[in-house]
Amino acid sequence: MSEQNSHLVCPHCSATNRVPAARLNAAPNCGKCGQPLLTASPHELNAQTVSKVIQKNEVLTIVDFWASWCQPCLMMAPQFKVAASQLPQVVFAKIQTDKYEQAAAPYNIRSLPTMVVFKNGKEIARQSGALPSDQIVQWVRSLNS
Ligand SMILES: [Zn+2]
Repeated sequence: MSEQNSHLVCPHCSATNRVPAARLNAAPNCGKCGQPLLTASPHELNAQTVSKVIQKNEVLTIVDFWASWCQPCLMMAPQFKVAASQLPQVVFAKIQTDKYEQAAAPYNIRSLPTMVVFKNGKEIARQSGALPSDQIVQWVRSLNS
């Protein structure tokens, strides 16, 4: 039997790493820049990294689509951060849609905030509207089983 590897895009240098499934819960570091691949707080995506992270990541990846003018988005930001710290093996990322309008366009976001969960480049769930951290955690856990 071959060992199962998961692709994981480094939040710091965007290198695609191959991580053995067994090492996902052992705080793996990036083979290129040496920094942690799984971070306790959400990482900010930009026009260059958003599609790469979504397409390449083989672990559950949740993206918060938000905008600077959106009050509920700003209110949810700290909740999203708390949820990220509680689910260390899930990638939490965010993309500012008013700054990176073109990059966010393919995901057909109709209201803000919207959280979209991806795995292996495919959308598996989305949730519009702000949620408190415990409900974000509960929702993501329900998808991971
Ligand atoms: Zn790196």
